[in-house]
Amino acid sequence: MSAIHELQPHALWQHFSAICDIPHPSFHEEQIREHLIGFAKEHNLEWQSDAVGNVIIRKNATPGMENRAGVILQGHMDMVPQKNNDTVHDFPTDPIKAYIDGDWVTAEGTTLGADNGIGMAAALAVLASKDLQHGPVEALFTATEETGMIGAQGLQQGILEGKILLNLDTEDEGELYIGCAGGTRIEINGDYSTESAQDGLVFKTLYISGLKGGHSGCDIHLGRGNAIKLLIRALHRLEAEGVRIASLNGGSLANAIPREASATIAIPESSLVACNNIIDQCSNELTAELAVVEPNLKLTLSDSVPAAELMSVQDQNKWVAAVDACPNGAQRMSDSIEGVVETSLNMGVLTINEW
Ligand SMILES: [Zn+2]
Repeated sequence: MSAIHELQPHALWQHFSAICDIPHPSFHEEQIREHLIGFAKEHNLEWQSDAVGNVIIRKNATPGMENRAGVILQGHMDMVPQKNNDTVHDFPTDPIKAYIDGDWVTAEGTTLGADNGIGMAAALAVLASKDLQHGPVEALFTATEETGMIGAQGLQQGILEGKILLNLDTEDEGELYIGCAGGTRIEINGDYSTESAQDGLVFKTLYISGLKGGHSGCDIHLGRGNAIKLLIRALHRLEAEGVRIASLNGGSLANAIPREASATIAIPESSLVACNNIIDQCSNELTAELAVVEPNLKLTLSDSVPAAELMSVQDQNKWVAAVDACPNGAQRMSDSIEGVVETSLNMGVLTINEW
């Protein structure tokens, strides 16, 4: 079963196979740290570890390469421990059972830990190599990356000597990243006053669904519909007919493009026909506008149980206008690299009446 260590290039896979045998979920990295230090000792390489648990191993340049810029090979020690419901596995003590399945290396019932075991294995292969020509090499193995980059955050300034850092924590083979996105999560909270619902209101659920969603980083340039923004656009128009909001929910994660959003609304009986017309108009407009990107978009109105409280008119107008005015999606493309998004925004979650 475990012929992983026999895969080619052997110099890489033998290390990956050994890493799989050593438990190394986040916060249980002692054994993998010992393994790395043992490797350094065995190969007579200079090593050091720091207060947050990072390990640095240094290898001298091959003869004639001493004045080349030093290269840092960086990966992280910990892996994400996830298993299938029916798998019995204790991550801090049990080895990962890696095996070859067709063209893939995978694990029996658990995550494999290729993130970032394969990065560590690549660095170890370079450190162990006797035939590669290279300048000074430093391998930096950071601790507890998956749950907050604790090792990277705690890395002492000036501890590294190299000038070029290659991060070996990636998903695509044969590709080199030359930049990285920075991101900020903004949480906006605000109060609103409520009013008791009066007689003569019909309660409905306005629901937008069928959108593709996606990752706010990887898919933001595709022009997909943002369920929250589209729902608010419809609500903004319905306000002219006296429509009131009782509750509203859209999206589930800050970094996911929301696929669904819904609002419980109160419609004055006398405006029911007009509101149905507005929703039909909105629905036609959105399906035409996003016909190519979002062919399954649906905006629907259905009956709802009545709510006792509504958002006050004043606060509703303010919040709906604010959310409607919020920029969303790709804002600017890179001026230097074609096809790359420079700046983007994703309204990931909107919820009211949750407290
Ligand atoms: Zn990783």
